[in-house]
Amino acid sequence: MRDFSTDHRWLSINTATVRKSRGVEVLLPDIIEACARRGIRAISPWRDQVAAAGVDVVARLLKTHDMQLSGYCRGGMFPDTDAKGRQAAYDDNRRAIDEACALGAPCLVLVVGGLPGALQGKPAHKDIDLARTQVSYGIAKLLDYAGTCGMPLAIEPLHPMYAAERACINTLEQALDVCDALDPMKSGAEPGTRRAALGVAVDAYHVWWDPKLKAQIERAGKNRLLALHVCDWLVPTNDLLNDRGMMGDGVIDLPQLRGWVEAQGFAGYSEVEIFSSANWWQRDIGEVLDMCISRHRSAV
Ligand code: ZN
Repeated sequence: MRDFSTDHRWLSINTATVRKSRGVEVLLPDIIEACARRGIRAISPWRDQVAAAGVDVVARLLKTHDMQLSGYCRGGMFPDTDAKGRQAAYDDNRRAIDEACALGAPCLVLVVGGLPGALQGKPAHKDIDLARTQVSYGIAKLLDYAGTCGMPLAIEPLHPMYAAERACINTLEQALDVCDALDPMKSGAEPGTRRAALGVAVDAYHVWWDPKLKAQIERAGKNRLLALHVCDWLVPTNDLLNDRGMMGDGVIDLPQLRGWVEAQGFAGYSEVEIFSSANWWQRDIGEVLDMCISRHRSAV
């Protein structure tokens, strides 16, 4: 396992972590500058932040600071009640792939969607199996386009509490079943095996509780492990979406998880992704980034 204790070469900041500073929205160029000043070499930006700044501007800034992406957030949201809605989702996902390519992202992260309308508080139906079928169709169709630009897609299983609103793929096992069905390949990390077109983003917050986690990480192998997201699970958690903890403040054994992922040959960034409306988004961006560096070294 890599030693993170003396430097933060492998730290990436998911830019949602510093979406706000002292409660006020921070623009992506300012986030990039603040990261660069601290020697942070990678980020994973969100589409709305990129759109606000302009893809070209962001691409240039990344180049200026020799900064990499650890992923691009995010595509997905496939299920819909009619063909028109599903086509709109497809078109939007194609644009997300184009942006990911323009920014040099290693993968586009997919939050696959749940019951149509649920995120807006008006679920159109109760058929989660149908939603899952539409997710598979949606990813299959998108894979063709992603293949033409060589952009890997990373399915992020979300904690089951988000199954209705955000993602009906809730375990690594489910995600890998979809990977194996749509992108069959030799598993493992043998030399010469091609890069996966479809893989997974392992987010500690979503999967830490899963009794099959270690086995499914081994099943994924190096080729399908496209991203590692870290934060912590607070006890108690006060908000289902926006009360994620800083690494070391909760109950997730992050070094164990990283050990499992790295045992498969994963050698990418450890991406800090914290949504925290009442705590970290109320603090100064500099303080948050310094804390991310410190905890990356001591708790990941
Ligand atoms: Zn994540």
